[in-house]
Amino acid sequence: MQAPVNLLGLDLDGLAAWCAGLGEKPFRARQLARWIHQRGEADFARMSDLAAAWRERLPALASVAAPPLLTERVADDGCIKWLFDVGGGNAVETVFIPEDDRGTLCISSQAGCAVGCSFCATGRQGFSRNLDTAEIIGQLWFAERRLRGLLGLAEGERAISNVVMMGMGEPLQNYGALLPALRLMLDDHAYGLSRRRVTVSTSGVVPMIDRLRTDCPVALAVSLHAPDDALRDRLVPLNRKYPLHELLAACRRYLDASPRDFIMLEYCLLHDVNDTPAHAAELLRLVRGGSGRPGLRCKINLIPFNPFAGSGYERSPPERVQAFAQQLRDAGIVTTVRRTRGDDIAAACGQLAGAVRDRTQVHRRLPPAPAHAAPAAGSR
Ligand code: SAH
Ligand code: SF4
Repeated sequence: MQAPVNLLGLDLDGLAAWCAGLGEKPFRARQLARWIHQRGEADFARMSDLAAAWRERLPALASVAAPPLLTERVADDGCIKWLFDVGGGNAVETVFIPEDDRGTLCISSQAGCAVGCSFCATGRQGFSRNLDTAEIIGQLWFAERRLRGLLGLAEGERAISNVVMMGMGEPLQNYGALLPALRLMLDDHAYGLSRRRVTVSTSGVVPMIDRLRTDCPVALAVSLHAPDDALRDRLVPLNRKYPLHELLAACRRYLDASPRDFIMLEYCLLHDVNDTPAHAAELLRLVRGGSGRPGLRCKINLIPFNPFAGSGYERSPPERVQAFAQQLRDAGIVTTVRRTRGDDIAAACGQLAGAVRDRTQVHRRLPPAPAHAAPAAGSR
């Protein structure tokens, strides 16, 4: 007998194909998706409007299983960080960031990362493996379900209004698993998020930026971090393969079909490395075009560096951050400075090293999370 299929790993087309393979009609896929993703149900016996015979068949054929939870930590500012076990001694992190007008979930796409950016804890850790679709969407499925209980939300209310693929890993180096997960996020039978509320952040995998534009044009964030190739080669080694002029051209192509969109450029400020007035001026030259080059429709998000042990970098002082931001704003570029969130639980960007040994640092826990996998025999 075949191992049960983890249905979290199938988007609506995948579910329909799976149902068809079992001789079931396509509407069964929509029914299942609504139970699983809209209502957070994992127990087929409770899916009350499924035909009884089909409901009884399902447990032998399928499961609905997020990766096992290792820890849950709540920061003083309300951010919540979950650490999930993805096997082989690897763990990945998911962070919920509540704000007045939104709830954002930051999702991981890989255990570790192969890009190896020098200022990123995940990059320093190296690459372990790609997450599969069930492990990617499982983070959203779990978080929505858990938050519903924690926040006491009514049936149909959602805690998560935005998703950012800004956790561990380079999402565009795991494209095959990412795409069905994105489709589920957008699908009205699943999470129903608008494409502007789902952001893929990339260090610049140019061919995959083009693929994403065709397949699923969600909001795009590009981790720039340097205004010239020599510096970017050092900070983001992928730049040696896809240098800045190619990356910016891919960004412009991404925006071609959607005149209301913009690219969010992320720029992590490292003291005396990339944060001087000369760097800001160079950055302006890069995004505004000039001398025959077209400009780029963008906003810039400055991220104060989040330190980690042995990084060798320092966070830019606040005056430097403000001066850098002002220089960009004075030139008419919409610029935000990312507020550091979840500081006390190391949940901020680039601190998501995700080693299982993190468990020893737990200093604050909530009551145990509810069982989130049923039946236990997952097929991840
Ligand atoms: N791999 C993707 C998405 C995950 S990282 C990417 O690089 O875009 C999310 C953001 O956090 C990226 O812009 C990344 O460069 C930034 N980041 C990584 N390490 C950081 C650190 N130590 N401090 C601040 N930002 C960091
Ligand atoms: Fe990977 Fe992004 Fe970290 Fe670079 S910043 S190492 S691409 S996770």
